[in-house]
Amino acid sequence: MEDEKIYVVGHRNPDTDSICSAIAYAYLKNKEENTEKYIPARQGKINSETHFIFKYFDYTILPHLIQDAEGKKIILVDHNEEDQSLKNIKKADVLEVVDHHNVNFSLGKPIFFLAEPVGCTATIILDLFKSKNITVPKHIAGLMVSSIISDTLLFKSPVTTQKDRIAVEKLLKIAGIENVKEYAFEMFSAKARIDKKTAEEIINCDLKEYDFNGVKVTIGQVELFNLDKIYGRKDEIIASMKKHIECRELKSFVLMLTNIDEEYSDLFIVAKKVCTIERIASAFGTQPQYNTVSNLEGVLSRKKQVVPPIQEVFLKKYSVNK
Ligand code: MG
Ligand code: MG
Ligand code: MG
Repeated sequence: MEDEKIYVVGHRNPDTDSICSAIAYAYLKNKEENTEKYIPARQGKINSETHFIFKYFDYTILPHLIQDAEGKKIILVDHNEEDQSLKNIKKADVLEVVDHHNVNFSLGKPIFFLAEPVGCTATIILDLFKSKNITVPKHIAGLMVSSIISDTLLFKSPVTTQKDRIAVEKLLKIAGIENVKEYAFEMFSAKARIDKKTAEEIINCDLKEYDFNGVKVTIGQVELFNLDKIYGRKDEIIASMKKHIECRELKSFVLMLTNIDEEYSDLFIVAKKVCTIERIASAFGTQPQYNTVSNLEGVLSRKKQVVPPIQEVFLKKYSVNK
């Protein structure tokens, strides 16, 4: 029965955590209530990293693809902002939220809302498994540990907490992964392979829309071992970013090019006005050079190191204009 189903879904342009936490949490809820009504869902294609993880653990069931939330019962994982959620999320019955991002959510009723400032949703879900005394099966442990490795860039990202490290240790054992560094390297390599991707696929791989007090900004991230190849395709990528903001009526697009080996990010920035590009660059105390801000040392996390300074700049601008 359609109305009995409850979809557990992560954010748009799903990353590994959004896919795997939806699977893990739906599993947990089904076990807890001895039902099958919780359906893992996704809002789009899985990325090449998640694809690698599924293959590694021989997991073949893709989460159910949904795009419109109208009339559906929904549980949100790995996000809570409307701009990152399903179409018509306001017309859905949102039952729960489990997330590790900035809270920007309101609903006309009390719900189970669990947000913790840890590196990954899967870390929070592991706690729920424990508190409900439900065993984590091997493949779910594999998906969960991969989520934490992905979101924390194997603990390099400043989003990492002690709790994430402990969760990884526990989950690795269950998943049967002996060498976490080797496994993480394989995972990141799967994501970093951009040769066969179109510019559009590259910019869409991991992007999120933000509404900074009425100003719509998209911030994407590409994680690579070195940035040479992406610079080799800069014109094509900038053109694709421009097209993206035209189509979606966004003010600007910031693409983080993160070198996970050397631990820094460059930014490609496009905006409808040149002064906006300058303003975004100013959030990092620098001037843009041909749509680029270079060498932001130690910058690995969008939510901790890129979103807050840009948000501050836009809020300032907004209040000045008002
Ligand atoms: Mg995510
Ligand atoms: Mg996450
Ligand atoms: Mg990420």
